[in-house]
Amino acid sequence: MQITPNGHEPIISPRVNLAAEGKLNLLGLDREDLKAAIAGIGVPEKQVKMRAGQVWHWVYHRGVTSFDDMSNVSKDVRAKLAEHFVIERPQIVEAQYSNDGTRKYLIRFADGNEAETVYIPEEDRGTLCVSSQVGCTLNCKFCHTGTMRLVRNLTAGEIVAQMMIARDDLDEWKNPTEGRRVTNIVMMGMGEPLYNFDNVKKALEIIMDEEGIQLSRRRITLSTSGVVPHMERCGKEIGVNLAVSLHAVRDDVRSDIMPINKKYSLEQVLTACANYPGAHNARRITFEYAMLKGVNDSDADARELVRLIRKYKLPAKVNLIPFNPWPGTEYQCSDWDQIQRFSDIVYEGGISAPIRTPRGRDIMAACGQLKSASEKKSKAQLAREAAANDAPHMEASDSALGWVTG
Ligand code: SF4
Repeated sequence: MQITPNGHEPIISPRVNLAAEGKLNLLGLDREDLKAAIAGIGVPEKQVKMRAGQVWHWVYHRGVTSFDDMSNVSKDVRAKLAEHFVIERPQIVEAQYSNDGTRKYLIRFADGNEAETVYIPEEDRGTLCVSSQVGCTLNCKFCHTGTMRLVRNLTAGEIVAQMMIARDDLDEWKNPTEGRRVTNIVMMGMGEPLYNFDNVKKALEIIMDEEGIQLSRRRITLSTSGVVPHMERCGKEIGVNLAVSLHAVRDDVRSDIMPINKKYSLEQVLTACANYPGAHNARRITFEYAMLKGVNDSDADARELVRLIRKYKLPAKVNLIPFNPWPGTEYQCSDWDQIQRFSDIVYEGGISAPIRTPRGRDIMAACGQLKSASEKKSKAQLAREAAANDAPHMEASDSALGWVTG
């Protein structure tokens, strides 16, 4: 499709936004892109800002997918819009509903790649766990996604679309602000969001826009494995809450289970946390800590965790995550008594350390279990699977939900 019949250079990459029939998909365009697209189809210059505002409202606040529904847009402009553009969601290949209300969506994008999104309802909130990449480069050993190769980054539109799809499924558009069921977002699905910084930033800005989806930055948490150079940028440029996948308190253990630690050591990660813009006691940094039996779960580890948080004067809380098993993993979940002891020691150190409640485990939606069918097995995975053939299988009862990925 030619989006600039008036001869202007398109400023939007057609590669990422072209729908199947060659029309530009408006989903994922920010305000400037949208204005440029509308200007490019010959809408009079004087009307562009107003029309872009109207379309923005319908797409992001009302969730419509047809230009016919944009009742305050004139008929001839609607016809032009429909001639050049679409408002398309990616396809839901599979939606699974857990007994506990958790919903997992396997989403297929236009190029056939897939990622997963998980909705977790709780008493006072509904949290959507959003993916930022297909696969992941980081190979954290306890994470199922880490067994996939990175296939590609998701575009801003594909990240925003995960929110749209969940709102569609939860029938949330009728009353977009009052009847919210997705009240929080965690960028903790598949992938390392800080390795896809620009698209994640653009997507979150769209989601936070006050005339669109209107989700407050205080209700958005980005979880990183500790990509130090981008952590400060995240605080300054996006301003969302930070979670860090910590999972160990010694460099040797962390480097073994999270190879990124060889690049950015514990000291570097914790220093970046101490410098995170906007972190204070009312807005604490969350440390994710998967409880791996015999690996990182000793009393001494718990005491060291307290010491480190105090040393760096971090306004922090710790989420203890009973490890979620997946086929081929070499780890076991810590014994329940030990998880409680660990939690007690950290609490006694003056730091909140709740144990995450198991959620969505019957549909493999729990943290660290996400993995799309579009996986390409890495060498590490093939080696792990070979080794696992000799290892005893995990019991399903060992599994539980918490947040690990990202
Ligand atoms: S925990 Fe996050 S960063 Fe690590 S492999 Fe899994 S998805 Fe990637």
